[in-house]
Amino acid sequence: PYTGPSADEIMAKRKEFLSPSLFHFYKNPLNVVDGRMQYLFDENGRRYLDAFGGIATVCCGHCHPDVVESIVNQVKRLQHSTVLYLNHAISDFAEALASKMPGNLKVVFFTNSGTEANELAMMIARLYTGCNDIISLRNAYHGNAAGTMGATAQSIWKFNVIQSGVHHALNPDPYRGVFGSDGEKYAKDVQDIIDFGTTGNVAGFISEAIQVTCLLLIKALKAGGLCIADEVQAGFARTGSHFWGFEAQGVVPDIVTMAKGIGNGIPLGAVVTTPEIAEVLTRRSYFNTFGGNPVCTAAGLAVLKVIEKENLQENALVVGSYLKNRLIELKDKYEIIGDVRGRGLMLGVELVTDRQQKTPAKAETLHVMDQIKEMGVLIGKGGFYGNVFRITPPLCFTKEDADFLVDAMDYTMSKM
Ligand code: PMP
Repeated sequence: PYTGPSADEIMAKRKEFLSPSLFHFYKNPLNVVDGRMQYLFDENGRRYLDAFGGIATVCCGHCHPDVVESIVNQVKRLQHSTVLYLNHAISDFAEALASKMPGNLKVVFFTNSGTEANELAMMIARLYTGCNDIISLRNAYHGNAAGTMGATAQSIWKFNVIQSGVHHALNPDPYRGVFGSDGEKYAKDVQDIIDFGTTGNVAGFISEAIQVTCLLLIKALKAGGLCIADEVQAGFARTGSHFWGFEAQGVVPDIVTMAKGIGNGIPLGAVVTTPEIAEVLTRRSYFNTFGGNPVCTAAGLAVLKVIEKENLQENALVVGSYLKNRLIELKDKYEIIGDVRGRGLMLGVELVTDRQQKTPAKAETLHVMDQIKEMGVLIGKGGFYGNVFRITPPLCFTKEDADFLVDAMDYTMSKM
């Protein structure tokens, strides 16, 4: 049993000693002390079904025994910097990762986070093309350092960064987007940005491929830009139909970035590109002390093996489709659900107080989240208006888990 400090004691320390910008979910924030596959446990040993997976970071399941074993074995043996010496854990994982990629995407640069991966990807695109302009999508999140904060396009996440060379194209959101699901029109917007906002050539286009249509990508490529697929959340089998989100678009990107699920919660990120493009980083020394260190890459290799061994991609497809259908049924039952979207185990449920006006149901979103937490189900929240449930559980999620989640939502909505 847990004998550590209570939630209140932790809150008090957090207020005094941690960043004032930290936020938390729930009126009574949850103190999580243990994790086991798709479950989290609080200080009283109460079990919660985790349908958010630490923002899609846990792909195999919390404390998956194979991943834990690999990490522990490597820590006991050696942990050090990534650079200067040789170590097989790093090269073995790079090889395994490259084998999951199409085309000539086989050169891996390791980082510690998704932000670092996207910063590096944007720099590579600029070096390779000799252009500075980068196109990203409105509503995107790509990281919180200077360049990626520029590419991020939601005011809530942006401090006073110089918007150096980044242009934000219309978000091809079928639900709220001005052109609905008309891909041609969004592609025209990208073309307009290129024609009127740049020299006619761009360094690249960065997006989560799950958000776009291939038309957008092709536009950017025609302007000489590199296509950067941010797979930080959508990668590692999460979308079910494919291992990578971009594969559903039928376009092979020039650069792929990843983090979160790559290490099942261990800090690790990566940029994967072609040998030809990777060559640009030989012009200077590129150095990252801990990016892809032996312990993190040992975790990464274990994750790939677990995904394969436990058929997690197939599970994401089967359970994800089942869950999505059940959520769509719920939408037929409750007016407050305006939209259900996503693929595999990366789903969104948007709440509105008026289906015609699509008025964001922000307070109701918080209420439902709080109520289902009391019933033992954790989900995430996002969207510009804070009115979208984010469902990104560990990929070992079962149909019974999906039923429990939807039943908890159903019960809560029936009482509203
Ligand atoms: N890209 C996407 C799509 C993300 O969701 C995130 C994190 N929310 C990032 C990049 C940044 O990753 P990190 O927080 O590891 O820097």
